[in-house]
Amino acid sequence: MKEDGSMNASSHIFGRDCHTSLPTVVSGNGCYLIDQHGKQYLDASGGAAVSCLGHQHPQMKRALHEQLDKIAFAHTGFFTSEPAEQLAQMLQEKAPGMDWVYLVSGGSEAVEAALKLARQYMIEIGQPQRHHIIARRQSYHGNTLGALSAGGNMMRRETYAPMLMKGSHISPCFAFREQQPNETDQAYVARLVDELEQEILFVGPEHVLAFIAEPVVGATAGAVPALPGYFASMREVCDRYGVLMILDEVMCGMGRTGSLFAYEQENITPDIVTIAKGLGAGYQPLGAMICTDVIYQAIKKGQGAFQHGHTYLGHPMAAAAGVAVLNIIEQENLVEAVQQKSGLLFTRLHQTFGQHPHVGDIRGRGLFLGLELVASRDDNQPFCPTRKLAKTIKQIALQHGLICYPSSGTIDGRYGDHILLAPPFVIQDDQLDELVTKLHKSLDEAIAKTR
Ligand code: PLP
Repeated sequence: MKEDGSMNASSHIFGRDCHTSLPTVVSGNGCYLIDQHGKQYLDASGGAAVSCLGHQHPQMKRALHEQLDKIAFAHTGFFTSEPAEQLAQMLQEKAPGMDWVYLVSGGSEAVEAALKLARQYMIEIGQPQRHHIIARRQSYHGNTLGALSAGGNMMRRETYAPMLMKGSHISPCFAFREQQPNETDQAYVARLVDELEQEILFVGPEHVLAFIAEPVVGATAGAVPALPGYFASMREVCDRYGVLMILDEVMCGMGRTGSLFAYEQENITPDIVTIAKGLGAGYQPLGAMICTDVIYQAIKKGQGAFQHGHTYLGHPMAAAAGVAVLNIIEQENLVEAVQQKSGLLFTRLHQTFGQHPHVGDIRGRGLFLGLELVASRDDNQPFCPTRKLAKTIKQIALQHGLICYPSSGTIDGRYGDHILLAPPFVIQDDQLDELVTKLHKSLDEAIAKTR
């Protein structure tokens, strides 16, 4: 370890980037993370939309200590557990139209389970020829091979392309980039809905298994909600052709967008929904795949078991964290807090960046917001990727004690940059000011540095 706390050549961590040194986190306090020199970082992205309750929440610590004193682990091949039962019941009660909960350890596992459950369901109902997944460009569903196959971010897929499953990618609902200048919202939505239908017809409806989408696109496009009516119409098309709808709420679920499940704001019920990140809030690795009773009953009457599984399904410590997170969200009225703070953060972002020459769009829902960066607001052309703007913003923001989540490839996996903000639901008004001030400074310095 170097004196400044960052890793040195003697570290044996196979990190995310072989050429980047990182500070060492030693503690946390609410919305702040603290490194070994006592430097504080405002966690304005919850890492990657994870730490919705902030760090070191006393009730979370208590719940985990209590569970550890009872039982840390028992394999689900032999036992169920109180926290797993309780979490499943709470999620079933809170997820409109959904009934059965499959507890896993993260987002990619939840998506893998969703894709495989969809496939087994089709076999159980006598439609084994269905295997084709339709997803959207610029989506992200995880990094395991199945989830990566579904994802539509070309940069993330490129290295593994020959190993990925065949499927198709249609247009996202991405108004800032893809709505035509004279196209009404209604016409744009109709065009996208028609694209799904044409793709199903092209593949052959008898082969199409599922349509998967993030209700609000997170990491790869920067907090992009769909236009009103889009998901309801996509649902109708899925129903017309017997195609399952899988909604991936790994990033946007669990209150992040101002409702516990993001799909509640779309007036639809998916067949399968995936959640993770905010469900464990960073206190434990946790995810879940939740399906309808129709799907569960088909498995029950068919093979009688989902042909899938992992060692850590329904892990009691992780489930105890999930129960505590849902309790805290309810007791502290955090979904309402997200709605209220969303308005404040939007206002401050518009005040600061509304006329900024390099901020083309400020968007999102709840406390899940994105700023898309442009070289020029006249034509919204992106910066050249060789500038590595997103990476530079992240580094400079860290120096200023701010954690945000900038990414590049916003438009097509290569061009475009955005900054994703996903602060803890417990963020205070003065911390929102600190966030915006530090972000402004970091953005301007990064643009100047990469010029
Ligand atoms: N799905 C979505 C929408 C995500 O944003 C992510 C992660 O960012 C995943 C799936 C994968 O989750 P994990 O990194 O926990 O495997």
